[in-house]
Amino acid sequence: MTATLPDFVSNLPFPVADNCMQVGGMPLTRLAQRVGRTPFYAYDRSLLTARVRQLRMAMPQQVRLHYSVKANPMPALVQHLAGLVDGCDVSSAGELKVVLDTPMAPEHVSFSGPGKGEGELSRAIAAGVLINIESEQELQRVAAIGDRLGMRPRVAVRVNPDFELKSAGMRMSGGPKQFGVDAEQAPQLLRHIGALNLDFHGLHIYSGSQCLRADAIIEAQRCTLELALRLAAHAPQAIRLLNLGGGFGIPYFPGDAALDIRPIGEQLAHLIARLAAHLPQARVALELGRFLVGEAGIYVTRVSDRKVSRGQTFLIADGGMHHHLAASGNLGQVIRKNYPVLIGNRIAGEQAETVSIVGPLCTPLDLMADKVVLPPAGPGDLIVVLQSGAYGLTASPTAFLGHPLPEEVLV
Ligand SMILES: *Cc1c(COP(=O)(O)O)cnc(C)c1O
Repeated sequence: MTATLPDFVSNLPFPVADNCMQVGGMPLTRLAQRVGRTPFYAYDRSLLTARVRQLRMAMPQQVRLHYSVKANPMPALVQHLAGLVDGCDVSSAGELKVVLDTPMAPEHVSFSGPGKGEGELSRAIAAGVLINIESEQELQRVAAIGDRLGMRPRVAVRVNPDFELKSAGMRMSGGPKQFGVDAEQAPQLLRHIGALNLDFHGLHIYSGSQCLRADAIIEAQRCTLELALRLAAHAPQAIRLLNLGGGFGIPYFPGDAALDIRPIGEQLAHLIARLAAHLPQARVALELGRFLVGEAGIYVTRVSDRKVSRGQTFLIADGGMHHHLAASGNLGQVIRKNYPVLIGNRIAGEQAETVSIVGPLCTPLDLMADKVVLPPAGPGDLIVVLQSGAYGLTASPTAFLGHPLPEEVLV
């Protein structure tokens, strides 16, 4: 069999020289030596910078770009992004600490998530970050903490909208949801805010994740704006911030086409004009995770063994689902599909073969690629899982089977 390279090889965001992928300005083989051991994650800062620049060019200049830290909370990466984006959204006190250690000013940080703990809230209020209120109970708790600390907490209301982001990989709105307060209950909550010693900033309306269709995102943003205009009538103060959520997806699987962000930017310009006419003080923010970081990251694992079982060839790698649950297909996928994988030190070959790549765990779930066509590889070769910059290490069951954690480098 001769190699027919999948599309993602010719569209690789990383340069190739001498048939070897270049990461952070050096061959992957040398980077592996620099890191000192496999497996590891590597994130490319020039790709992160380029992605933010690409977004800025496509979006109206008034749009504030926020980074959703849960996509990848590696401190060096957050530090790098903090210098590029206008705000960060965190979902725990742990993520809050990472952001507060960067030069990002606390007034540009917001805290979202159901069930924020009392201790987390009090730390976030003391830090001066914006709390996205997600229930009546939480509202009362935040006000009480503010009284205790002698501070006026900065708050916004996270609304569970009465619509959903169509064709999203993960729906986070529309029906009954644990996130935010239902749009129907929001007017009452907004009135309660007016009666408390709270500094009200605006609304946070997040409808979904991993969407690759511009028209669906445009439609959700349009509905979000209309909902915000309706709710503004109940707000205790002028709306200063309207967080429209995000949902921008990246292609993971064969047949996925990259999201075209240009039409989103064009439509957003119209929405912003409409918003300015009704709520002149409101600034618009987009909150993105994987779109900013997903394509800039790779997971690298070395082949440690190769075996043929009843006619099927397996490459056994030193890393697997315990470091990268999503690539194994066990993080929310209904039908298992292969992440894009390649042999980083042997991008193309005269020959090709069909192999399955598995990790070292004693479970058939530890499958990193099922029957993929690759140049022949064996012990010592470096397997690269692309699109691994978001929801990789921190979304994985690292304690399962007790292997060491992988390294993470920003290059
Ligand atoms: C997870 C999450 C995000 C980021 O989602 P991506 O798909 O990574 O862009 C943004 N906002 C909120 C509220 C989230 O929960």
